[in-house]
Amino acid sequence: MFPNPVPPWIPHPAMSAITPTRAEDYPEWYQQVIKAADLAETSDVRGCMVIKPWGYAIWENIQRRLDAMFKATGHENAYFPLFIPMSFLEKEAEHVEGFAKECAVVTHHRLEPDPEGGLRPAPGSKLEEPLIVRPTSETIIGATFARWVQSYRDLPILINQWANVVRWEMRTRMFLRTAEFLWQEGHTVHATSEEAQEETRQMLEVYADFAENTMAMPVIKGRKTAGERFPGAVDTLSIEAMMQDRKALQAGTSHFLGQNFAKAQEIKFQAESGELTYGWTTSWGVSTRLVGGLIMTHADDDGMVIPPKLAPAHVAILPIYRNDDERAEVLKYCDSLKAELEAQTFDGAPVRVKLDDRDIRGGDKKWQWVKRGVPFRAEVGPRDVKGDAVFLSRRDVDGKGKGTPRGEFVGTIASALEEMQQGLFDRAAKLRDEATCEIDTMEEFEKYFAEDAPGGLAYCHFVDGPEMEAKLKAMKLTARCIPLEGKPEKGKCIFTGGESQQRGIFARAY
Ligand code: AMP
Repeated sequence: MFPNPVPPWIPHPAMSAITPTRAEDYPEWYQQVIKAADLAETSDVRGCMVIKPWGYAIWENIQRRLDAMFKATGHENAYFPLFIPMSFLEKEAEHVEGFAKECAVVTHHRLEPDPEGGLRPAPGSKLEEPLIVRPTSETIIGATFARWVQSYRDLPILINQWANVVRWEMRTRMFLRTAEFLWQEGHTVHATSEEAQEETRQMLEVYADFAENTMAMPVIKGRKTAGERFPGAVDTLSIEAMMQDRKALQAGTSHFLGQNFAKAQEIKFQAESGELTYGWTTSWGVSTRLVGGLIMTHADDDGMVIPPKLAPAHVAILPIYRNDDERAEVLKYCDSLKAELEAQTFDGAPVRVKLDDRDIRGGDKKWQWVKRGVPFRAEVGPRDVKGDAVFLSRRDVDGKGKGTPRGEFVGTIASALEEMQQGLFDRAAKLRDEATCEIDTMEEFEKYFAEDAPGGLAYCHFVDGPEMEAKLKAMKLTARCIPLEGKPEKGKCIFTGGESQQRGIFARAY
């Protein structure tokens, strides 16, 4: 809940389609947007959600674009088992420690009637070795790579997998943190440390490009502090975004794994010199959390707002009529309008149009599309047909829409979508920049993150270590990252007073 009065960075509308508004109760607003936009719903399984068609279509668009970017950088898709033998996980000590607390474990393979009623796992079907439902696949994929790699000629191996994973999260929130989630995980093996580090950087760039240019979500590229590193990684890079409540969201990660997993999984190869050496591996992933990031970046008090590049439909055409005669006339006009729009190109593909001819009240229909976040709504009634026009509204712009000649609408739809895409990015970047500052003393830091203060992203000098971690934990804050593009700058750590070479970013986070 936000402090009163309503924080100035979120406009407080007189009326809104979503109750509560962002300013009244941000976490509850988030849940209500998901419901009103028909994106997903909670399920009968703890921590797991049902992704509904409109939400899944956004995920499919995310997948499609990222998949093309992965392939353009030389990666191929493959698929590995859902189950990981427990002994595989044990091989990398840090990795098992990091994931042991949140694993789903399969111990039996058959059910039988329970004498006390219902069913029970059949005692006679106990597995010799328990199987873990993958929380991430470094170990099983590493074991496979060990068979694929013999010589330097087999390298690099550049693989991506689209899959679901399970992490038994204690506090879940739809899309942002679920027990089962959908993701992609890239896994690569290289002959040298430099090549693997180059890959780690490259995939971070791919994620940042995608976040900014497709999701219209500004991100900061950075390196994680030791406490935030992926279990078993030498180095974790991430992209960090800021949501409208000024909390940070880790939107994607790219890990340089050094030879840790190669040694644990025996990924060895004969180098050009003839010497037998271990490979260097990386892994990188983004998940359905991105849909949560999209909502928290762009949605408003009337519901979802989808950046055009990810919108399942760019335009919803909404016919309005009172009787059968009008209906025939209006629908004919709408059909041809749809065809004209679909002949236009946006973002390298035909404009996506949904003609909503359902027999429901005009007002309700319109509000459904507002709440679902479709970029443009074109209402068409008999008067518009006569005037060869539409009544056009753009989702992210205030106001009530306006009558627009049909030719102008069709002729400018591609540039209008482009403009909206850019407008959403600019708006989010402005909000983030306004909530970003440099802080040089603990006193200021405590004030900035006081419980009744809005907070934001604080750039501070720091020395990574237990003292900093303890202070952050006590304040319910996290080190987000050390920005890659940050300038080296000497200063004093606000936690310990020690010498610091560069600022890190600190924030409340999801
Ligand atoms: P990791 O393997 O921990 O580096 O995570 C890879 C990606 O999945 C990151 O972008 C995380 O933000 C995301 N992620 C991690 N845990 C969850 C979760 N419980 N639900 C949704 N996304 C997650």
